[in-house]
Amino acid sequence: MRVVLATHNAHKVAEFGQIVAATRPDLEVVGYDGPEPVEDGVTFEQNALLKARAAAAHTGLPALADDSGIAVDVLGGSPGVFSAYWAGQRKSDAANRDLLLDQLRDIADPHRAARYVSVIALALPDGREWTVRGEWPGRLAHAAAGDGGFGYDPVFVPDGQDAPERTVGQFSAEEKQSQSHRARAFVALIPLLSAL
Ligand code: IMP
Repeated sequence: MRVVLATHNAHKVAEFGQIVAATRPDLEVVGYDGPEPVEDGVTFEQNALLKARAAAAHTGLPALADDSGIAVDVLGGSPGVFSAYWAGQRKSDAANRDLLLDQLRDIADPHRAARYVSVIALALPDGREWTVRGEWPGRLAHAAAGDGGFGYDPVFVPDGQDAPERTVGQFSAEEKQSQSHRARAFVALIPLLSAL
């Protein structure tokens, strides 16, 4: 089966490729270089659907789109859908991370809970559409560590690790892709893809 992946984000394309290869190697995922809609939704679901619909309409293929971010409990779930722009429209990963660390500077570990969220939308050219959600719970580190992954990875410490705990920036790509929010959402998507 052939699907188009509606993202221009090279990191997401690479991570998706690794997740699909490990779980659904029969799926042929093609890239997308068509127009991207303005992401004016206020939920991950709305933004993922906007992107998937636009790609399905443009290509005539089933389209997948991921909308994702980090949600910090003490900030009421922010940055959330604003994760990519938390420090402004410049879209700098380092500036976003630094601002978040600064905001939580005086907050102790028990109150630094956060989660990565990924919502994947599947849109078909005939108008049918679905969303699935994957979450990866953890907490915000006190300082950036590691240079793997992208975005908030150097400042996100997933739950359930043996000591010494590491940030996702210190994970190998295989480690991240075996347990990430994106991988969890993709697992929830597999039955939908199988039913098509
Ligand atoms: P989107 O492309 O609009 O979905 O923005 C997603 C933003 O959320 C990215 O720019 C990152 O800042 C953050 N994000 C989403 N997934 C990850 C991840 O796996 N690691 C680190 N940051 C992520």
